[in-house]
Amino acid sequence: MEESNSRPEWKRIYRTFAEEVMAPHVRHFDQERAFPTPIHEKAAAEGILNAAFPEELGGAGLSYTDFTEGVSELSAVCPGMTWTLVFNRGALHPVVAAGTPEQKDLFVTQLLKRNGYGALGLTEPENGSNLLAATTRAVKTDSGWLLNGAKCMSGNGTVADVFIVLANTVVDSRKRGLSFFAVPRDAPGVTVSDDIEKAAFRCLPTPSVTFQDVALEPVNLIGRAGDGEALLNDLLATIRIGGAACGTGMVAAMLRDALTWAGERRVYPDDRLDTLSHVQLTLGRLYVELVAARKLVKEATGLADQGLPFGKESAMAKYAATELAVRASNEILQLYGWRGIAADYGVEKRWRDARALTIFEGSSEIQLLNVFREMRRMAMSEEGL
Ligand SMILES: Cc1cc2nc3c(=O)[nH]c(=O)nc-3n(C[C@H](O)[C@H](O)[C@H](O)COP(=O)(O)OP(=O)(O)OC[C@H]3O[C@@H](n4cnc5c(N)ncnc54)[C@H](O)[C@@H]3O)c2cc1C
Repeated sequence: MEESNSRPEWKRIYRTFAEEVMAPHVRHFDQERAFPTPIHEKAAAEGILNAAFPEELGGAGLSYTDFTEGVSELSAVCPGMTWTLVFNRGALHPVVAAGTPEQKDLFVTQLLKRNGYGALGLTEPENGSNLLAATTRAVKTDSGWLLNGAKCMSGNGTVADVFIVLANTVVDSRKRGLSFFAVPRDAPGVTVSDDIEKAAFRCLPTPSVTFQDVALEPVNLIGRAGDGEALLNDLLATIRIGGAACGTGMVAAMLRDALTWAGERRVYPDDRLDTLSHVQLTLGRLYVELVAARKLVKEATGLADQGLPFGKESAMAKYAATELAVRASNEILQLYGWRGIAADYGVEKRWRDARALTIFEGSSEIQLLNVFREMRRMAMSEEGL
């Protein structure tokens, strides 16, 4: 992504869109578990639907920093709706990062022109965190590749025109390895299930996708066959910054609303809730943790914008921000009493949505494993800790 000079401007655009366009419809799309098509139409009309793509591919060339701040602003209102709006950039990242000009035109530019969607197929029913063990297989044929396997939890999958699929390639009996394929949804042998019911991110459809003897051409292979691991690591580092930004955006919104609530609500014997020291300590502590998490996110996006490695930093940011979101949503819900679990107040929705953040895009445990490996390498090198 390119460095942009208009940072405050983009943040304002995303915030205005979130508050004016998204907010009035959040409850409806959550309750109906429906893809928010009218919100997407407005986002497309206002030029923010695919703004994070490079300009030459049809986006607005937002920097990582600008885009991440935008994701925070949108997530403050609804993380599920946010994901439907922004995840095209994550799903199509392998093509943006490693596609040929022909592939970028075919799978990104043409798709964006018709406001289409890409979806990511990493997770398999038997391999979630352990992506290296992918059992979806692509076997080399005379005319290209034959793909077989199954993916699940493919965000935006029900509306996607193309799936970016991680598969184990079998080039010959000796050479195997991970590879990415861009698989058109209408290719014979591709089957997309209905959406699944879930507690969080309800308006983001996450169906399963199966591939049965799907014949692919050489142009569908993204990057070199068997060399997909580095691209996978780059993809994971990129998308987890979004997860982190989602966490910080949600926590900021929870704190803002909790301050209003605690400033109005009177409790036994006859004090405002925010005069109780445990409430002040809770909210004060959560704010300190929010500022710390934001700094980690900023560090990761700053490195990414400079083209420097940001894998460890994005793992730390994702871990800190999403664990905080889970904790904050739980502690703040308690301050609302029964209203905390009543749908009218929106507090229970944030509590449900926050719960997904420490699972998707690499769970908290996987982020800590990433951090541990890098920490150990640093400790053993001259760099130190
Ligand atoms: C809202 C949402 C959207 C999603 N979107 C997509 C998408 O677009 N595309 C896609 O491919 N996937 C998507 N996913 C799936 C998501 O990426 C996986 O759920 C995630 O990677 C974890 O895999 P799993 O659920 O199979 O858990 P598992 O891998 O089965 O793990 C189960 C538990 O064991 C822990 N664990 C696993 N390995 C270790 C270890 N070595 N050490 C310690 N603990 C470990 C995990 O942290 C977890 O707590 C989405 C998920 C959600 C919730």
